[in-house]
Amino acid sequence: MTALSAGAATVVGQVRTANEDSHLVLPDLVVVADGMGGHRGGEVASATTVRVVGEQSGGGTLEDLVAAVQRANRQVHDDAASDPSLRGMGTTVCAVGLVQHDDVAELAVLNVGDSRVYLLANGRLEQLTEDHSLVETLVREGRLSPEDAEVHPQRNVLTRALGVEAAVAVDAWLLRPADGDRLLLCSDGLFNEVAEDRIAELLAEPDAPEIVARRLCAEADAAGGRDNITVVVLDVSDTGAAPSPLDERYRRFSTPAVDLWEESDGPKTDTVLAVIATGSPQPEEAAVVDDADDGTEVAAPTDAVAPAGDTTAASDERASRSGRWRSIAFVAALAAVIVLALGAITVVGRAGYFLGTEGDRVVVYSGQKWGVLWFAPTVVKRTDITLDDLQEAGQLKVRSQQGGYANAAAAEAFLQRNTTTTTTTTTTTTTTTTVPPPAPPPADAVPVPLPPPVPAPAPVPTPLPAP
Ligand code: MG
Repeated sequence: MTALSAGAATVVGQVRTANEDSHLVLPDLVVVADGMGGHRGGEVASATTVRVVGEQSGGGTLEDLVAAVQRANRQVHDDAASDPSLRGMGTTVCAVGLVQHDDVAELAVLNVGDSRVYLLANGRLEQLTEDHSLVETLVREGRLSPEDAEVHPQRNVLTRALGVEAAVAVDAWLLRPADGDRLLLCSDGLFNEVAEDRIAELLAEPDAPEIVARRLCAEADAAGGRDNITVVVLDVSDTGAAPSPLDERYRRFSTPAVDLWEESDGPKTDTVLAVIATGSPQPEEAAVVDDADDGTEVAAPTDAVAPAGDTTAASDERASRSGRWRSIAFVAALAAVIVLALGAITVVGRAGYFLGTEGDRVVVYSGQKWGVLWFAPTVVKRTDITLDDLQEAGQLKVRSQQGGYANAAAAEAFLQRNTTTTTTTTTTTTTTTTVPPPAPPPADAVPVPLPPPVPAPAPVPTPLPAP
């Protein structure tokens, strides 16, 4: 009879002040959850999840375990909705449990989010789960290399997590166990700090699971410990089976994006399942940002979840098509922005007129004095007027290349008004004829009061000469 033996370790890390990871080790079931959410939200979400999933311990099927994860999802979602201090909380979850499948003991492997399950067998480390993260999606679509994904700044952005929506799709597999299998469940605090080669080395040490788990945590902590680190190591024995290649004993099961546990509610769930089977639109999958630096998380709707009972290939095809449409929409939007920006630059670059000189002649320019990007001002009118022909104000305006004319004609009109030629002619005419009478004061001139008349001095009597 298959026997499991597990050991676990968890550390808060070097940066976080609280440990939002939770884990559970039972004789037939192990679970790791990596919570996220402000204040105590992350701790509550992960603790609730391992507790609810743990209630399924003691025998059951793959479907029972999936239903337990969906119950946990509903519980976290409802708690977040009813308690403002827990709003926005969520969690990843990965679990391995001993289940019965066609009367044979097998290991159920479940996952939502980016915590991972690995298998070390025959000296090879293989990741059994797929991350529900933005970078993993990009890698699957061939748009990002696995090496770049490891250092991508958005590697903490999740595309699926527990507690974000009322229903969640759970990835599920069955593994036929073999003697010597060693499984590793861990939060991202481990594999973001320690390379997989090194993880394989440490996992291969022939020590008890708990000792190996502690060693892995300590290595990740020493490597930076930028996040909480949780590790569960699970040894398999007494199966009577020798390890065979993974593809011969590991297979995936698709599960509906609705809560299986609701089936007991009757026709309501049947209706939902039937609708999904015909390919109706699915609930939106949520993107959750788990920021390892400050612990903040953001949720926003993104891609649709794969329909129930869908094959992996069809799901991948839909995801790929969706990715292509997003790329096309992005390029089209970018092109529109560029065209609009070029149009705006052209309008600004060509707008306005100002006066300047070309050689010793005054000319009218179109455009902006300093130019706008590649739009230099251009001469639209050359005049016969030189700077010396202009009055001082006109000269200043031309020298400083002041603009503000609506068109070339307005600029020319200014020149005509400010040339000294007209004044000279007038002066010549007046000096050769008569002095013009003083111009009458303008109508709005302020009259200057005349000074009061000065009185004539009184005559001083002249004294008579003495006789
Ligand atoms: Mg984490």
